Amino acid sequence: MSKTKYIFVTGGVTSSLGKGIISASLAKLLQERGYSVTIQKLDPYINIDPGTLNPYEHGECFVTEDGAETDLDLGHYERFLNIPTSQANNVTTGRIYQSVIDKERKGAFLGKTVQVIPHITDEIKHRVQILGNTGEYDIVITEIGGTVGDIESLPYVEAVRQLKWELGDDNALVIHLTLVPYLAAAGELKTKPTQHSVKMLMQSGVAPDILVCRTEHHLNDNIKRKLALFCNVKKESIIESIDAETIYDVPNLMLEEKLDLEVLSQLKLPLGKEPRLIKWNEFLTKFKNPKHTVEIGLIGKYVELHDAYKSITEALIHAGSSNEIKVNIHWIHSESLTTKNVPEKLKNLNGIIVAPGFGGRGIEGKIDAVKYARENKIPFLGICLGMQMAVIEYARNVLNLADANSIEMDENTKNPVINLMEEQKKITEKGGTMRLGAWDCTLTENSKIKTIYKTKNISERHRHRYEFNNDYLEQITNAGMKATGINSETGLVEIVEIPGHPWFVGVQYHPEYKSTVLNPHPLFVDFVKACL
Ligand code: GLN
Repeated sequence: MSKTKYIFVTGGVTSSLGKGIISASLAKLLQERGYSVTIQKLDPYINIDPGTLNPYEHGECFVTEDGAETDLDLGHYERFLNIPTSQANNVTTGRIYQSVIDKERKGAFLGKTVQVIPHITDEIKHRVQILGNTGEYDIVITEIGGTVGDIESLPYVEAVRQLKWELGDDNALVIHLTLVPYLAAAGELKTKPTQHSVKMLMQSGVAPDILVCRTEHHLNDNIKRKLALFCNVKKESIIESIDAETIYDVPNLMLEEKLDLEVLSQLKLPLGKEPRLIKWNEFLTKFKNPKHTVEIGLIGKYVELHDAYKSITEALIHAGSSNEIKVNIHWIHSESLTTKNVPEKLKNLNGIIVAPGFGGRGIEGKIDAVKYARENKIPFLGICLGMQMAVIEYARNVLNLADANSIEMDENTKNPVINLMEEQKKITEKGGTMRLGAWDCTLTENSKIKTIYKTKNISERHRHRYEFNNDYLEQITNAGMKATGINSETGLVEIVEIPGHPWFVGVQYHPEYKSTVLNPHPLFVDFVKACL
């Protein structure tokens, strides 16, 4: 097949309806039918990327292989589809404007007035088609962030209108995800909010082809007919999306609702083979029928918003299922931990994860948690900042370097066991300037990590400015903590572990970004097993 087809997913009524999960589930079904599919997210905010956003604002910043700092929905796309995304899969208004303004300065529009229409909308259309033009995908699903009616979404909706017209009805369609609320007092599902949001979309010249209706109760025939009649879509195009026990049920629910069939019929594409979701359902069966339970503490400073650690919690779900273990996550605020209360607060845990993070808030609590895990031989996984905290803890409490610290937290420490990376020293701008994306790492023979990965050379994704200070390598190694993963080009320590401890591993990288339903990450799988 030569020509790429485009599916646009818009949202109505409220945010947080799960456009990302619906997009990923539809993509999964189309992939099972034999199509090559990718998903793109267009975010209407003005930041160039979410890398400069506090996690409280938008949840986790997901990092791709090619080092893009992206919206957390890209994590869902990768976990569902089991294929990597890239810089091109996440575009923000900031990036669109930046390209247009750069072009203007270069004289690309000489003589012309540069305007939202056509210049911004042209750039949006270009960005949407970049993925299709690679020739790698039969279908590109583009999710438009935000809710229809938002001022900032308008240029995107206009770009969708134009693209639909240019590509033709057989080559592009619009799925509108909407809410059908249940009014308990009236005992009724209400269609009016959906009618209004479709009207809003139509005012911008876009008529939805399919409505996916989020609901807490099944939509009966009557409701479906009403929605179809008032929103101007076929009845078969009204798809119910009932609340699910887990996001991983949604592909099966969409299969039952025949969303994939409706999409293929509207795009005039062959149906391919019936989705069987064999491995997916094996994962689900094990996930829903665990034989054991473990209690894992996730120590971080953004724990009030669980989305801030989305990829870690999903990686634990994948690892739990693969071990047939239910993982109960205990969200522990690092600021609530003190040297005194740590034994009490962490006593019931089978494993401890110290999470990534930036800045000094809550780090002493993280260090106390590492000490507790090390001394009490509780399985410990330190991720990025968590690994750095493990090194600091070891330096302070085993090497007796009482003021050991990271330069990030204390510029004047006499023992900077965690130092700013050399190439970071010249950098002043904050956006997209960390050590990002996939970097290689060589594992040491006879290490725990090597038995876990079962291979010598690995590549993992990164997002950091600071690193293990190799001036302390000998001292720390002699005292017992080993550096068992090194980037062989730069000598950067990627992994530390403590032999003799049942399971103590700190990694400078983010293994959570690469865990998917079909490929649970080996580090999480082994950690969860060790917690049992
Ligand atoms: N703040 C630390 C650094 O920049 C750790 C970053 C992280 O945990 N992602 O090196």
